[in-house]
Amino acid sequence: MSDGEAAARLAGQVLAEGAADADQRVMAMSVQALVELREGALEAGIVRLEEARAAHDPATGSARTGWLIEHVQTQRLRREGRLTDAQAGLRLLHLQAERRPPVDAYLSAGSLGVVLSMQGDSDGALDLFYQALAIARRSGVDSLVVNALNNLGSFQTDLYNLEDARPLLEECLAGAMRIGSRRQTIYAAGNLVQCLCLIGKPAEALATAREHLIGQIRPDDLPALHRDEEIAQALLGNGLVDEAQAALGGEVHIDPMSNELATARVWLGARILLARGNARDALQLCLARQAMLREQSEESTVAIDRVTLLRVAAQAACGVGDHALAYRLLDEAFSTHEELLGRAARSRQISLQISHRLQQAEWERDAAQQLAARLEALNQSLQAQVAENERLQERLRAQALEDPLTGLHNRRHLFEAGGALLALLRRRAVPLAAVLVDLDHFKQVNDRHGHDAGDRVLRGFAELARSVTRAEDIVCRHGGEEFVLLFPGADAPQAAARLRDLLQSFRALTFVDGSGADFSCSFSAGVAGWRGGEDDLAALLARADAALYAAKQGGRAQVCIDDTPGDR
Ligand code: GH3
Ligand code: MG
Ligand code: MG
Repeated sequence: MSDGEAAARLAGQVLAEGAADADQRVMAMSVQALVELREGALEAGIVRLEEARAAHDPATGSARTGWLIEHVQTQRLRREGRLTDAQAGLRLLHLQAERRPPVDAYLSAGSLGVVLSMQGDSDGALDLFYQALAIARRSGVDSLVVNALNNLGSFQTDLYNLEDARPLLEECLAGAMRIGSRRQTIYAAGNLVQCLCLIGKPAEALATAREHLIGQIRPDDLPALHRDEEIAQALLGNGLVDEAQAALGGEVHIDPMSNELATARVWLGARILLARGNARDALQLCLARQAMLREQSEESTVAIDRVTLLRVAAQAACGVGDHALAYRLLDEAFSTHEELLGRAARSRQISLQISHRLQQAEWERDAAQQLAARLEALNQSLQAQVAENERLQERLRAQALEDPLTGLHNRRHLFEAGGALLALLRRRAVPLAAVLVDLDHFKQVNDRHGHDAGDRVLRGFAELARSVTRAEDIVCRHGGEEFVLLFPGADAPQAAARLRDLLQSFRALTFVDGSGADFSCSFSAGVAGWRGGEDDLAALLARADAALYAAKQGGRAQVCIDDTPGDR
């Protein structure tokens, strides 16, 4: 929002499109009002502000829009000369700056600085201009930084603290060119030219004026952009009287309601007259202005202009031979200048203090942020480590319980989960059958078809077994080509029936070996029913193993049920 033209254009677009919501429209109106007030269109600005205020509904409108309306209101008060009210409003807004977006915080700090400077509180104004610069730098928005540098640099020039003013304005000019803002470039160059003239560097001042001002400002530019006085000053400093006269546009108007610009115009005009040998008119011009200034308050004219006016007047008095008057004027110039130097020294000292304080605050903020960031990073890496550990442990646990070749559970899982299952079923009196499966002549399979084909058979059996069992069943690779299946809820004959179906499906599977030959396989199985009570898994499996032995003995490819006498 430091670029009024762009902001106004954008706001105009928002309003013209008509698509924006009510809040956006009020926001756009407020921006337009702000730009109008800033550019001197007081009445239009007030009308638009009132429109915006009437259209803003605090209940549904955004806080941002509410804030902007309040800000524009303070600018209106300032333009109307109600500085105390403007200051009060801005102080309220500035108190909220920490919680506002950078642009808002910047606007309230900078505007409060302007009001304080208008009220003659230069210490307070300096403080706020430095705060605004710090906010701008922190925001990383280049146009804000340039704007802040212009405000602070020109204020330091007014305070005659040229030592601080010059580097601020040089940085400002470079920044304004970098962001390509014509308006800010003209402001910065104008301020810098004035500063260089005051430092006593007229050649540098003229070079700057020629590069950035002379021929760059159009007659139809807003009055705020005209830099006639600065240009004339640089030209006169280099003895270019005609050009200076042309820059001032010929006539010198004395306007009783005018500000310091008019005083600069007066002494510039008088210097031109002096250069042309017309000391009498020069003196008259200066004395008239001098008389007018005496009736006005101190703040209405920048001190350095008062000093210069007195000096030029003294020169003119010499020119007309009135040495007594010349002496009096020089004496007054001298004491005003002394005063000015004292003020400059003071602002230099205060500037240092403020910069130091803000730097300190910045460091503290940075340090706190860095600490917070480090803690956050540490916390995150710890969390990542914990999560990674958990994943690793989960994987290890899964690996420990899983058979890598078939993806079935392994023996260890069988004893963990099987033990728990028996404990559960024991309380509920639910039956369970255990089955031990051993593939038939598997050594031969390996020998005839190769180990890889053997592996495929193992995986084939595993897949089949998985597909025909239920979620609550436990299917494990017991080792080698032996498998254990536990069927909770089934007795031995039911389990045997399921195994016979499985055997049929397995025998129907066809495998192909490395040489392209196909073959199939069978298995033998022993089934044992759980007897409950003290019957444990090892005993149960031993009986299943016995039944398996019987199946092998019986010619393989068959399912046998344990028939050893027991409780159940
Ligand atoms: P039986 O019908 O009496 O059970 O005869 P068998 O040949 O299956 O008997 P045995 O238990 O003596 O042989 C098992 C074979 O299984 C021996 C071994 O080479 C093979 N084997 C064990 N683990 C694997 C494996 O992971 N992959 C392959 N391809 N073969 C395995
Ligand atoms: Mg075996
Ligand atoms: Mg075998």
